[in-house]
Amino acid sequence: MNGNVVIVGSGHAGVSVAFKLRTQGFKGNITVIGEEIYLPYHRPPLSKKYIANLADEGRLYLKQESQYRSEKIDLRLNCRVNAIHRSEKQVELEDGERIQYDALVLATGARARSLSTALGGGAQNIHTLRNLSDAKRIRDALTQNKRLLVVGGGYIGLEMAAVARSLGLQVTLIERESRILGRVAAAQTAAYFKNLHEKHGVRVLEGVGIESLERSNDRIEKVRLSDGTVIGVDVVVVGIGVIPELQLAQEAGLQVANGIVVDRAGRTSDTAIYAVGDCASFVFRGQMIRLESVQNAVDMAEVVGLSIAGASTRYDCHPWFWSDQYTTKLQIAGLNLGYTQVAVRNKNETALSVWYFDQEGLIAVDAINDAKAFMMARKWLSSGQSPCLDDIANQSLELSAMTIFEKTDLVT
Ligand code: FAD
Repeated sequence: MNGNVVIVGSGHAGVSVAFKLRTQGFKGNITVIGEEIYLPYHRPPLSKKYIANLADEGRLYLKQESQYRSEKIDLRLNCRVNAIHRSEKQVELEDGERIQYDALVLATGARARSLSTALGGGAQNIHTLRNLSDAKRIRDALTQNKRLLVVGGGYIGLEMAAVARSLGLQVTLIERESRILGRVAAAQTAAYFKNLHEKHGVRVLEGVGIESLERSNDRIEKVRLSDGTVIGVDVVVVGIGVIPELQLAQEAGLQVANGIVVDRAGRTSDTAIYAVGDCASFVFRGQMIRLESVQNAVDMAEVVGLSIAGASTRYDCHPWFWSDQYTTKLQIAGLNLGYTQVAVRNKNETALSVWYFDQEGLIAVDAINDAKAFMMARKWLSSGQSPCLDDIANQSLELSAMTIFEKTDLVT
Protein backbone atom coordinates (compact mmCIF):
# COMPACT_ATOMS: atom_id res chain seq x y z
CA MET A 1 0.00 0.00 0.00
CA ASN A 2 1.04 3.57 -0.64
CA GLY A 3 -0.63 6.72 0.62
CA ASN A 4 -0.63 8.54 3.92
CA VAL A 5 -0.52 6.85 7.27
CA VAL A 6 -1.04 9.18 10.21
CA ILE A 7 -0.28 7.91 13.70
CA VAL A 8 -1.59 9.83 16.72
CA GLY A 9 0.60 9.23 19.78
CA SER A 10 4.36 8.90 19.88
CA GLY A 11 4.56 6.24 22.59
CA HIS A 12 5.81 2.68 22.25
CA ALA A 13 2.78 1.56 20.24
CA GLY A 14 2.69 4.46 17.77
CA VAL A 15 6.42 4.40 17.05
CA SER A 16 6.41 0.61 16.66
CA VAL A 17 3.67 0.83 14.02
CA ALA A 18 5.72 3.37 12.06
CA PHE A 19 8.87 1.22 11.98
CA LYS A 20 6.92 -1.98 11.32
CA LEU A 21 5.38 -0.34 8.25
CA ARG A 22 8.83 0.42 6.88
CA THR A 23 10.13 -3.10 7.52
CA GLN A 24 7.06 -4.33 5.61
CA GLY A 25 8.19 -2.25 2.64
CA PHE A 26 5.52 0.44 2.97
CA LYS A 27 6.64 3.27 0.69
CA GLY A 28 4.01 5.91 1.51
CA ASN A 29 4.14 8.83 3.92
CA ILE A 30 4.21 8.14 7.62
CA THR A 31 3.51 10.92 10.10
CA VAL A 32 3.72 10.34 13.84
CA ILE A 33 2.13 13.10 15.92
CA GLY A 34 2.86 13.27 19.64
CA GLU A 35 2.01 15.91 22.19
CA GLU A 36 5.05 15.28 24.37
CA ILE A 37 8.22 17.27 23.77
CA TYR A 38 10.68 14.38 24.08
CA LEU A 39 11.92 11.91 21.52
CA PRO A 40 9.73 8.82 22.03
CA TYR A 41 10.99 6.86 25.03
CA HIS A 42 10.58 3.69 27.10
CA ARG A 43 8.20 4.30 30.02
CA PRO A 44 9.04 1.27 32.25
CA PRO A 45 12.46 2.63 33.38
CA LEU A 46 10.78 5.80 34.66
CA SER A 47 9.66 4.06 37.85
CA LYS A 48 12.82 1.98 38.02
CA LYS A 49 16.29 3.08 36.89
CA TYR A 50 15.49 6.63 35.80
CA ILE A 51 14.09 7.90 39.10
CA ALA A 52 16.82 5.99 40.93
CA ASN A 53 19.37 8.05 38.93
CA LEU A 54 20.71 4.88 37.31
CA ALA A 55 19.76 5.77 33.72
CA ASP A 56 19.89 9.11 32.01
CA GLU A 57 17.45 10.47 29.49
CA GLY A 58 19.45 9.43 26.44
CA ARG A 59 19.12 5.77 27.41
CA LEU A 60 15.33 5.96 27.46
CA TYR A 61 14.84 6.74 23.80
CA LEU A 62 13.16 4.10 21.65
CA LYS A 63 15.09 5.27 18.54
CA GLN A 64 17.61 7.98 17.80
CA GLU A 65 16.44 11.05 15.87
CA SER A 66 18.51 9.99 12.87
CA GLN A 67 16.54 6.72 12.59
CA TYR A 68 13.28 8.60 12.04
CA ARG A 69 15.00 10.65 9.35
CA SER A 70 16.57 7.66 7.61
CA GLU A 71 13.24 5.78 7.59
CA LYS A 72 11.46 8.92 6.35
CA ILE A 73 9.13 8.98 9.32
CA ASP A 74 7.86 12.48 9.89
CA LEU A 75 7.92 12.82 13.67
CA ARG A 76 5.96 15.81 14.88
CA LEU A 77 6.50 16.34 18.58
CA ASN A 78 4.94 18.89 20.91
CA CYS A 79 1.91 18.70 18.67
CA ARG A 80 -1.60 17.65 19.69
CA VAL A 81 -4.33 16.25 17.48
CA ASN A 82 -7.60 17.89 18.44
CA ALA A 83 -10.10 16.19 16.16
CA ILE A 84 -10.66 13.52 13.54
CA HIS A 85 -12.81 14.44 10.54
CA ARG A 86 -13.76 10.99 9.34
CA SER A 87 -15.77 11.99 6.28
CA GLU A 88 -12.82 13.98 4.92
CA LYS A 89 -10.21 11.50 6.28
CA GLN A 90 -8.33 14.26 8.01
CA VAL A 91 -6.97 14.94 11.47
CA GLU A 92 -6.94 18.45 12.83
CA LEU A 93 -4.01 19.72 14.89
CA GLU A 94 -4.39 22.23 17.69
CA ASP A 95 -3.22 25.09 15.45
CA GLY A 96 -5.96 24.22 12.95
CA GLU A 97 -3.71 22.52 10.36
CA ARG A 98 -5.32 19.47 8.80
CA ILE A 99 -3.50 16.33 7.66
CA GLN A 100 -4.97 13.90 5.18
CA TYR A 101 -4.85 10.17 5.90
CA ASP A 102 -5.60 6.97 4.06
CA ALA A 103 -5.05 4.99 7.24
CA LEU A 104 -5.16 6.52 10.72
CA VAL A 105 -3.70 4.84 13.81
CA LEU A 106 -4.80 5.90 17.27
CA ALA A 107 -2.00 5.18 19.74
CA THR A 108 -3.08 7.69 22.35
CA GLY A 109 -2.23 5.57 25.40
CA ALA A 110 -3.49 6.49 28.82
CA ARG A 111 -3.06 9.13 31.49
CA ALA A 112 -2.50 8.66 35.20
CA ARG A 113 -5.54 8.82 37.43
CA SER A 114 -5.11 11.57 40.00
CA LEU A 115 -6.62 12.29 43.40
CA SER A 116 -9.58 14.65 43.57
CA THR A 117 -8.79 18.22 44.60
CA ALA A 118 -10.42 17.56 47.98
CA LEU A 119 -7.89 14.80 48.52
CA GLY A 120 -4.90 16.88 47.56
CA GLY A 121 -4.92 16.64 43.77
CA GLY A 122 -3.15 19.68 42.33
CA ALA A 123 -1.00 20.36 45.40
CA GLN A 124 2.63 21.16 44.62
CA ASN A 125 4.14 18.11 46.32
CA ILE A 126 1.64 15.55 45.00
CA HIS A 127 2.75 13.70 41.88
CA THR A 128 1.47 11.12 39.45
CA LEU A 129 3.84 9.21 37.20
CA ARG A 130 3.03 8.66 33.55
CA ASN A 131 5.54 10.58 31.50
CA LEU A 132 9.11 11.82 31.50
CA SER A 133 8.12 15.28 32.76
CA ASP A 134 6.43 13.65 35.78
CA ALA A 135 9.50 11.48 36.36
CA LYS A 136 11.82 14.51 36.28
CA ARG A 137 9.70 16.31 38.88
CA ILE A 138 9.58 13.23 41.11
CA ARG A 139 13.30 12.59 40.74
CA ASP A 140 14.04 16.14 41.90
CA ALA A 141 11.68 15.74 44.84
CA LEU A 142 13.01 12.43 46.14
CA THR A 143 15.95 13.43 48.26
CA GLN A 144 17.41 11.54 51.20
CA ASN A 145 15.54 11.49 54.51
CA LYS A 146 12.41 13.04 53.07
CA ARG A 147 9.10 11.44 53.99
CA LEU A 148 7.33 9.90 51.02
CA LEU A 149 3.74 8.74 51.02
CA VAL A 150 2.89 6.38 48.17
CA VAL A 151 -0.84 6.13 47.52
CA GLY A 152 -1.74 2.84 45.84
CA GLY A 153 -0.28 -0.63 46.15
CA GLY A 154 -0.17 -1.58 42.46
CA TYR A 155 3.04 -2.14 40.51
CA ILE A 156 3.82 1.55 39.95
CA GLY A 157 3.32 2.34 43.64
CA LEU A 158 5.46 -0.61 44.73
CA GLU A 159 8.24 0.26 42.29
CA MET A 160 8.18 3.86 43.53
CA ALA A 161 8.46 2.68 47.13
CA ALA A 162 11.45 0.47 46.25
CA VAL A 163 13.27 3.24 44.40
CA ALA A 164 12.59 5.74 47.18
CA ARG A 165 14.02 3.38 49.79
CA SER A 166 17.14 2.93 47.68
CA LEU A 167 17.48 6.73 47.71
CA GLY A 168 17.19 6.83 51.49
CA LEU A 169 13.69 8.22 51.94
CA GLN A 170 11.28 7.22 54.69
CA VAL A 171 8.41 5.54 52.88
CA THR A 172 4.81 4.79 53.83
CA LEU A 173 2.62 3.05 51.28
CA ILE A 174 -1.14 2.99 51.69
CA GLU A 175 -3.60 0.78 49.85
CA ARG A 176 -7.33 1.42 50.17
CA GLU A 177 -8.30 -2.19 49.36
CA SER A 178 -7.75 -4.97 51.88
CA ARG A 179 -4.37 -5.85 50.34
CA ILE A 180 -1.81 -4.61 47.86
CA LEU A 181 -1.97 -5.91 44.25
CA GLY A 182 -5.64 -6.75 44.83
CA ARG A 183 -6.63 -6.10 41.23
CA VAL A 184 -3.77 -7.90 39.54
CA ALA A 185 -2.36 -10.74 41.64
CA ALA A 186 -3.26 -13.52 44.06
CA ALA A 187 -2.84 -13.12 47.79
CA GLN A 188 0.36 -15.22 47.71
CA THR A 189 2.11 -12.82 45.31
CA ALA A 190 0.86 -9.83 47.29
CA ALA A 191 2.11 -11.34 50.56
CA TYR A 192 5.56 -11.88 49.06
CA PHE A 193 5.81 -8.24 47.99
CA LYS A 194 4.40 -6.87 51.23
CA ASN A 195 7.01 -8.83 53.15
CA LEU A 196 9.76 -7.71 50.76
CA HIS A 197 8.89 -4.04 51.23
CA GLU A 198 8.57 -4.32 54.97
CA LYS A 199 11.99 -5.96 55.14
CA HIS A 200 13.35 -2.94 53.29
CA GLY A 201 11.77 -0.59 55.80
CA VAL A 202 8.60 0.50 53.97
CA ARG A 203 5.56 0.95 56.19
CA VAL A 204 2.78 -0.83 54.27
CA LEU A 205 -0.75 0.01 55.42
CA GLU A 206 -3.55 -1.99 53.81
CA GLY A 207 -7.27 -1.25 53.95
CA VAL A 208 -6.41 2.40 54.57
CA GLY A 209 -7.30 5.46 52.51
CA ILE A 210 -6.84 9.22 52.83
CA GLU A 211 -9.38 10.87 55.12
CA SER A 212 -8.20 14.48 54.99
CA LEU A 213 -5.15 16.64 54.40
CA GLU A 214 -3.44 19.58 55.98
CA ARG A 215 -2.04 22.07 53.50
CA SER A 216 0.33 24.96 53.85
CA ASN A 217 1.26 27.18 50.89
CA ASP A 218 -0.20 24.73 48.40
CA ARG A 219 1.82 21.87 49.85
CA ILE A 220 0.44 18.87 51.69
CA GLU A 221 2.08 18.71 55.10
CA LYS A 222 0.04 16.11 56.95
CA VAL A 223 -2.29 13.34 55.89
CA ARG A 224 -5.00 11.90 58.11
CA LEU A 225 -5.66 8.30 57.15
CA SER A 226 -8.97 6.49 57.42
CA ASP A 227 -7.69 4.50 60.43
CA GLY A 228 -7.08 7.75 62.32
CA THR A 229 -3.28 7.79 61.87
CA VAL A 230 -1.82 11.18 61.01
CA ILE A 231 1.45 11.20 59.10
CA GLY A 232 3.74 14.04 58.13
CA VAL A 233 4.77 14.07 54.46
CA ASP A 234 7.23 15.89 52.23
CA VAL A 235 6.31 14.18 48.96
CA VAL A 236 3.27 12.18 47.83
CA VAL A 237 3.25 9.92 44.78
CA VAL A 238 -0.09 8.61 43.63
CA GLY A 239 -0.24 5.32 41.72
CA ILE A 240 -3.93 4.52 41.46
CA GLY A 241 -4.20 3.39 37.88
CA VAL A 242 -4.72 5.03 34.52
CA ILE A 243 -7.53 6.32 32.34
CA PRO A 244 -7.29 5.43 28.64
CA GLU A 245 -7.14 8.43 26.28
CA LEU A 246 -10.36 7.96 24.35
CA GLN A 247 -11.58 11.47 23.73
CA LEU A 248 -10.57 11.69 20.07
CA ALA A 249 -12.16 8.34 19.31
CA GLN A 250 -15.32 9.13 21.24
CA GLU A 251 -15.80 12.51 19.59
CA ALA A 252 -15.25 10.90 16.20
CA GLY A 253 -18.04 8.41 16.97
CA LEU A 254 -15.88 5.28 17.05
CA GLN A 255 -17.03 2.36 19.16
CA VAL A 256 -15.53 2.62 22.64
CA ALA A 257 -15.77 0.32 25.69
CA ASN A 258 -13.13 1.13 28.31
CA GLY A 259 -10.88 1.38 25.27
CA ILE A 260 -11.21 1.91 21.55
CA VAL A 261 -12.82 -1.31 20.35
CA VAL A 262 -10.76 -3.11 17.71
CA ASP A 263 -11.04 -6.37 15.81
CA ARG A 264 -8.31 -9.02 15.46
CA ALA A 265 -6.52 -6.89 12.87
CA GLY A 266 -6.54 -3.82 15.11
CA ARG A 267 -9.29 -2.10 13.09
CA THR A 268 -11.82 0.12 14.84
CA SER A 269 -15.47 0.46 13.85
CA ASP A 270 -14.17 2.62 10.96
CA THR A 271 -12.05 0.37 8.73
CA ALA A 272 -9.66 3.22 7.85
CA ILE A 273 -8.85 3.75 11.54
CA TYR A 274 -6.80 1.43 13.76
CA ALA A 275 -6.05 1.54 17.47
CA VAL A 276 -3.08 0.06 19.31
CA GLY A 277 -1.57 -0.21 22.77
CA ASP A 278 -2.97 1.01 26.08
CA CYS A 279 -5.94 2.79 24.44
CA ALA A 280 -7.24 -0.25 22.54
CA SER A 281 -9.78 -2.77 23.72
CA PHE A 282 -10.10 -6.25 22.18
CA VAL A 283 -11.55 -9.68 22.78
CA PHE A 284 -9.44 -12.08 24.84
CA ARG A 285 -10.84 -15.40 26.10
CA GLY A 286 -14.34 -14.15 25.29
CA GLN A 287 -14.05 -10.86 27.19
CA MET A 288 -13.25 -7.30 26.13
CA ILE A 289 -9.96 -6.33 27.73
CA ARG A 290 -7.43 -3.55 27.59
CA LEU A 291 -3.81 -4.23 28.48
CA GLU A 292 -1.23 -1.79 29.79
CA SER A 293 2.08 -3.35 28.86
CA VAL A 294 4.98 -3.02 26.48
CA GLN A 295 4.33 -6.51 25.12
CA ASN A 296 0.80 -5.52 24.12
CA ALA A 297 1.91 -2.20 22.60
CA VAL A 298 4.59 -3.87 20.49
CA ASP A 299 2.60 -6.95 19.46
CA MET A 300 -0.50 -4.97 18.51
CA ALA A 301 1.68 -2.53 16.58
CA GLU A 302 3.14 -5.43 14.63
CA VAL A 303 -0.34 -6.61 13.62
CA VAL A 304 -1.52 -3.13 12.68
CA GLY A 305 1.66 -2.44 10.70
CA LEU A 306 1.12 -5.67 8.78
CA SER A 307 -2.59 -4.96 8.24
CA ILE A 308 -1.97 -1.50 6.83
CA ALA A 309 0.80 -2.85 4.63
CA GLY A 310 -1.78 -5.22 3.17
CA ALA A 311 -0.88 -8.53 4.85
CA SER A 312 -3.54 -10.76 6.31
CA THR A 313 -2.89 -11.10 10.03
CA ARG A 314 -4.56 -11.31 13.45
CA TYR A 315 -3.57 -10.47 17.00
CA ASP A 316 -3.10 -13.66 18.94
CA CYS A 317 -2.48 -12.17 22.37
CA HIS A 318 0.06 -13.81 24.71
CA PRO A 319 0.42 -11.31 27.51
CA TRP A 320 3.55 -10.95 29.57
CA PHE A 321 4.71 -8.27 31.96
CA TRP A 322 7.51 -7.57 34.41
CA SER A 323 8.22 -5.50 37.49
CA ASP A 324 11.55 -4.82 39.22
CA GLN A 325 11.59 -4.01 42.92
CA TYR A 326 14.92 -3.84 44.82
CA THR A 327 16.80 -6.84 43.40
CA THR A 328 13.60 -8.86 42.94
CA LYS A 329 12.37 -9.57 39.44
CA LEU A 330 8.73 -10.42 38.89
CA GLN A 331 7.84 -11.85 35.48
CA ILE A 332 4.23 -12.52 34.64
CA ALA A 333 3.15 -14.80 31.81
CA GLY A 334 -0.50 -14.88 30.74
CA LEU A 335 -3.44 -13.08 32.30
CA ASN A 336 -5.02 -14.34 35.52
CA LEU A 337 -8.46 -12.96 34.64
CA GLY A 338 -11.15 -15.31 36.00
CA TYR A 339 -8.80 -17.71 37.78
CA THR A 340 -10.44 -20.26 40.06
CA GLN A 341 -7.45 -21.98 41.66
CA VAL A 342 -3.87 -21.14 42.53
CA ALA A 343 -0.85 -23.35 43.22
CA VAL A 344 2.44 -22.07 44.60
CA ARG A 345 5.91 -23.50 44.03
CA ASN A 346 8.55 -22.43 46.49
CA LYS A 347 11.97 -22.67 44.90
CA ASN A 348 13.95 -21.16 47.75
CA GLU A 349 13.62 -18.34 50.27
CA THR A 350 13.50 -15.61 47.68
CA ALA A 351 12.17 -17.39 44.60
CA LEU A 352 8.68 -18.70 44.05
CA SER A 353 6.04 -18.96 41.39
CA VAL A 354 2.27 -18.57 41.65
CA TRP A 355 0.32 -20.56 39.07
CA TYR A 356 -3.24 -19.55 38.12
CA PHE A 357 -5.75 -22.05 36.72
CA ASP A 358 -9.32 -21.92 35.46
CA GLN A 359 -11.49 -24.87 34.39
CA GLU A 360 -9.52 -25.23 31.17
CA GLY A 361 -6.09 -25.32 32.81
CA LEU A 362 -3.19 -22.94 33.25
CA ILE A 363 -3.90 -19.28 32.45
CA ALA A 364 -1.08 -17.31 34.08
CA VAL A 365 2.01 -17.41 36.26
CA ASP A 366 3.70 -14.86 38.52
CA ALA A 367 7.35 -15.91 38.56
CA ILE A 368 9.34 -14.20 41.29
CA ASN A 369 13.09 -14.54 40.81
CA ASP A 370 12.34 -17.70 38.86
CA ALA A 371 13.13 -17.26 35.17
CA LYS A 372 12.69 -20.96 34.50
CA ALA A 373 9.09 -20.97 35.72
CA PHE A 374 8.41 -17.91 33.55
CA MET A 375 9.93 -19.51 30.44
CA MET A 376 8.07 -22.79 30.90
CA ALA A 377 4.79 -21.01 31.54
CA ARG A 378 5.18 -18.85 28.44
CA LYS A 379 5.96 -21.89 26.34
CA TRP A 380 2.92 -23.82 27.60
CA LEU A 381 0.57 -20.84 27.40
CA SER A 382 1.57 -19.89 23.89
CA SER A 383 1.07 -23.44 22.65
CA GLY A 384 -2.30 -23.92 24.39
CA GLN A 385 -0.89 -26.49 26.82
CA SER A 386 -1.13 -26.90 30.56
CA PRO A 387 0.32 -28.94 33.39
CA CYS A 388 -2.05 -30.23 36.10
CA LEU A 389 -2.54 -28.19 39.22
CA ASP A 390 -1.59 -31.19 41.40
CA ASP A 391 1.72 -31.57 39.59
CA ILE A 392 2.48 -27.87 40.03
CA ALA A 393 1.67 -28.14 43.73
CA ASN A 394 4.00 -31.14 44.05
CA GLN A 395 7.21 -29.35 45.01
CA SER A 396 9.41 -32.37 44.40
CA LEU A 397 8.35 -32.74 40.77
CA GLU A 398 10.49 -30.78 38.28
CA LEU A 399 8.58 -28.62 35.79
CA SER A 400 10.35 -30.41 32.96
CA ALA A 401 9.11 -33.78 34.24
CA MET A 402 5.42 -32.87 34.29
CA THR A 403 2.79 -34.41 32.09
CA ILE A 404 1.42 -31.75 29.78
CA PHE A 405 -2.10 -31.65 28.36
CA GLU A 406 -3.70 -29.80 25.51
CA LYS A 407 -5.90 -27.32 27.39
CA THR A 408 -9.11 -28.53 25.80
CA ASP A 409 -8.43 -32.03 27.27
CA LEU A 410 -8.69 -30.59 30.76
CA VAL A 411 -12.21 -29.20 30.38
CA THR A 412 -14.47 -31.20 32.69
P1 FAD B 1 1.67 5.69 25.76
O1 FAD B 1 3.05 5.25 26.10
O2 FAD B 1 0.81 6.26 26.83
O3 FAD B 1 1.79 6.74 24.55
C1 FAD B 1 0.70 7.49 24.10
C2 FAD B 1 1.22 8.83 23.65
O4 FAD B 1 0.20 9.49 22.94
C3 FAD B 1 1.59 9.75 24.80
O5 FAD B 1 2.86 10.30 24.58
C4 FAD B 1 0.52 10.84 24.76
O6 FAD B 1 0.98 12.07 25.24
C5 FAD B 1 0.19 10.87 23.27
N1 FAD B 1 -1.12 11.42 22.94
C6 FAD B 1 -2.32 11.12 23.50
N2 FAD B 1 -3.30 11.83 22.90
C7 FAD B 1 -2.73 12.58 21.95
C8 FAD B 1 -3.22 13.52 20.99
N3 FAD B 1 -4.52 13.82 20.91
N4 FAD B 1 -2.34 14.12 20.16
C9 FAD B 1 -1.01 13.83 20.22
N5 FAD B 1 -0.50 12.94 21.10
C10 FAD B 1 -1.34 12.33 21.95
N6 FAD B 1 4.80 -2.04 31.02
C11 FAD B 1 5.45 -3.21 31.09
O7 FAD B 1 5.18 -4.11 30.27
N7 FAD B 1 6.40 -3.46 32.06
C12 FAD B 1 6.72 -2.50 32.97
O8 FAD B 1 7.57 -2.73 33.84
C13 FAD B 1 6.07 -1.24 32.91
N8 FAD B 1 6.39 -0.25 33.75
C14 FAD B 1 5.81 0.98 33.60
C15 FAD B 1 6.21 2.04 34.42
C16 FAD B 1 5.63 3.30 34.28
C17 FAD B 1 6.08 4.43 35.16
C18 FAD B 1 4.62 3.51 33.30
C19 FAD B 1 3.98 4.87 33.16
C20 FAD B 1 4.21 2.48 32.48
C21 FAD B 1 4.80 1.21 32.63
N9 FAD B 1 4.44 0.15 31.81
C22 FAD B 1 5.09 -1.05 31.90
C23 FAD B 1 3.35 0.31 30.82
C24 FAD B 1 3.89 0.60 29.44
O9 FAD B 1 4.87 1.59 29.51
C25 FAD B 1 2.71 1.03 28.56
O10 FAD B 1 1.82 -0.05 28.49
C26 FAD B 1 3.16 1.42 27.17
O11 FAD B 1 4.09 2.47 27.24
C27 FAD B 1 1.94 1.84 26.36
O12 FAD B 1 2.35 2.42 25.16
P2 FAD B 1 1.33 3.24 24.26
O13 FAD B 1 2.12 3.74 23.12
O14 FAD B 1 0.11 2.45 24.04
O15 FAD B 1 0.85 4.48 25.15
